[in-house]
Amino acid sequence: MIILWMKKELEALDHASMERRLRTHVPITENPGYVMHGGRALLDLSSNDYLGLAQHPAIIEAMRDALLKEGAGAGASRLVTGNRQPYAQLEKALAEWQNCDAALVFANGYTANVGVISALVGRGDVVFSDQFNHASIVDGIILSRAEHARYRHNDIEHLRALLHKFRDKRRKLIVTDAVFSMDGDQARLLDLIALKREYNALLMVDEAHSGGVYGSRGEGLISALGVTSNVDIHMGTLSKSFGIYGAYVCANEMLIRWLLNKARPLIYSTALPPSLIAGAAQALKLIQTEHWRRERLFAASKFFRSSLCDAGFNIGNGDSPIVPLILEHNHKALLFSSALETEGIAAIAIRPPTVPEGTARIRFSLSAAHSLEELTDAVTKICRLGLQLGVLESCRQN
Ligand SMILES: *Cc1c(COP(=O)(O)O)cnc(C)c1O
Repeated sequence: MIILWMKKELEALDHASMERRLRTHVPITENPGYVMHGGRALLDLSSNDYLGLAQHPAIIEAMRDALLKEGAGAGASRLVTGNRQPYAQLEKALAEWQNCDAALVFANGYTANVGVISALVGRGDVVFSDQFNHASIVDGIILSRAEHARYRHNDIEHLRALLHKFRDKRRKLIVTDAVFSMDGDQARLLDLIALKREYNALLMVDEAHSGGVYGSRGEGLISALGVTSNVDIHMGTLSKSFGIYGAYVCANEMLIRWLLNKARPLIYSTALPPSLIAGAAQALKLIQTEHWRRERLFAASKFFRSSLCDAGFNIGNGDSPIVPLILEHNHKALLFSSALETEGIAAIAIRPPTVPEGTARIRFSLSAAHSLEELTDAVTKICRLGLQLGVLESCRQN
């Protein structure tokens, strides 16, 4: 049976250049900066493998060893019989790395956010959330049934007004991405800390895109700013800089105990395979010691950003390895992306509802796996396409 309403809505999506489709990309193990697609090697400017660890032999070896020792799956939730040895080792190492009391691993960043938020607040409470926060944060708030007070992106005065308006609510939680995933700019953490104190709220920070990237040992933005003791809940992922899969939450002992009792995705879902956990522990060692990866990543980001900016593109005002090239129209973003693919570059178009209406973009994300020569070549191609597609009037590439 054809579901008519669905057929119509899918046609409308397609017509607005908003339909999403799966594509297959094959990794090139010996060259983590590239992916194979349609029989060609493409420079991968869309993955979140910031440190180039996804194909690291030491991580793969740790995973293989654990696979042989622990088997394929954990078999049960961690609160049943799924809590294998690699978990304790990883959580201890995470807590030491973050200089916090305790850490707790979740299946992924999405369920960590959903689980933590819905464990902390409920009816009668309020969550203050940046307009550009990740979808998993939004879903956590909806599931919690708390009031959703959305403040304009990085608008501290708007947040203050909302905190004042909802000052009589039972519990208050402020939640933010540390680095915003589609814009690459940073949250104003110092201002958020001042406000959380003033209004007696909890502060939760999502370091999905800053963990491994900022800080002298890759601890993230909170640590780099020296404000660890002022953030109540620090969430990060094992899927981006770590190059694997999973997430962690760092907090004080009591909060972790609370989550273990109240975070439903943790309680009612099977533990991650122990091999992933062992791989993450190995990745954490590399993140803490291989500083050259961060240096290379930041050199790449700086070069790429300043080149696109000088050329005259609108790339927002971040300073992270995420560089948005804002094209406004969905159709133009798709066209730009497919032209880049023809030029040997994988860079995916991001459209609403992931970003606001009228801000469709190419989201470039850089990696320690890329060399400056590769990026120079990419910038030349991007500028040429910018001219061809009428995004730039003249190309001021140096
Ligand atoms: C990617 C991302 C997540 C989700 O993490 P997964 O491990 O991929 O589920 C959560 N928050 C932010 C800000 C992200 O960018």
